[in-house]
Amino acid sequence: MKIAILPGDGIGSEIMAEAVKVLQVMELPLTLETAPVGGTAYELHGHPLPPATLALAQAADAVLFGAVGDWKFDKLERQFRPEQAILGLRKHLGLFANFRPAICYPQLTQASSLKPELVAGLDILIIRELTGDIYFGAPRGRRTAVDGHFPGAEEAFDTMRYSRPEIERIAHVAFQAARRRRKKLTSVDKANVLETFQFWKDVVSEVHADYPDVALDHMYVDNAAMQLVKAPKAFDVVVTGNMFGDILSDEAAMLTGSIGMLPSASLDKHNKGLYEPSHGSAPDIAGKGVANPLATILSAAMMLRYSLNQATAADRIESAVQAVLAAGLRTADIWSEGTQRVGTREMGDAVVAALGSSKTAASTAQSMTKT
Ligand code: NAD
Repeated sequence: MKIAILPGDGIGSEIMAEAVKVLQVMELPLTLETAPVGGTAYELHGHPLPPATLALAQAADAVLFGAVGDWKFDKLERQFRPEQAILGLRKHLGLFANFRPAICYPQLTQASSLKPELVAGLDILIIRELTGDIYFGAPRGRRTAVDGHFPGAEEAFDTMRYSRPEIERIAHVAFQAARRRRKKLTSVDKANVLETFQFWKDVVSEVHADYPDVALDHMYVDNAAMQLVKAPKAFDVVVTGNMFGDILSDEAAMLTGSIGMLPSASLDKHNKGLYEPSHGSAPDIAGKGVANPLATILSAAMMLRYSLNQATAADRIESAVQAVLAAGLRTADIWSEGTQRVGTREMGDAVVAALGSSKTAASTAQSMTKT
């Protein structure tokens, strides 16, 4: 299995080094091949997604992505900005389903901005549609208004749209994900105001007929935003459009305490995917060795589970992360009084060490069973 490793900018190379270390000790038949992306690629090759990087991503079974972006590229023409690499990869790889789990590890309940009892044991999954909605709908632009409240005034406009196949394919993905979990799906819309989302709601309800074992409810996005901070554990899987998903997934992310802990996956129709931490390139802490590598390590675990059919290996990595947290190790973003502050590399080393001990424990358990 070939993995494209795209570290990117800022803390990207630091956090990726730790995820690679973890993958290398897993003893799986993986070939890891690295290529530049984002600002790093622009500086080397004049484009944030050079053809060789795109070709590697297309040929690989999965892509593990660090993060891109730096303020020093903010003045570049839009097509050369580092973030364009992500949009290009999503487009060329046909990635339409973004999975963002929000899991609150018991050891980190104090790091959440909500009361511990609201987030302890939280394990929800937000699925965001990535290709449609108001982000890509045409026409869009600026013009002089011919009607509305201020005819003759300068105005800007975008177009919100979703086609039936776009809604159907994300609905199938979401029902299947819910089926593998607690069998509860919440579809978030704004059907009371927007025609696009009345259509969304109708199509999701039709697809539900194929999944009678999954409970479906519909919720308006304003209520969903409120319920996520009021009673987040009431959700299991949430599916929604591109814009609502963009906002709600960040809201859900913060329930868990730190963005440094959150993995994500963007999948195509064959479950090939791009896996990346939910955070950006954090230029403010780049090069200091303090970034939290756990979101990237957990993204590698998601990659093993969703694209490479290696659920046991994914479980092992997730257990190793929990063991390291239980032992009290914390990078600066999740540090609290009474825990041990470590840097990026020490955190990665600790996960590797915990994997070694989980392997020992697993083989001991196996030999005991045999006995
Ligand atoms: P950011 O996520 O990079 O950083 C926000 C804050 O969180 C910062 O204080 C940062 O230090 C902290 N943080 C982020 N990741 C961390 C980690 N692993 N460990 C500890 N602390 C961490 O968001 P930003 O500052 O708004 O954006 C910085 C750059 O990243 C911008 O150029 C932006 O466009 C880009 N960005 C890229 C992606 C991506 O590559 N997918 C996503 C979001 C932002």
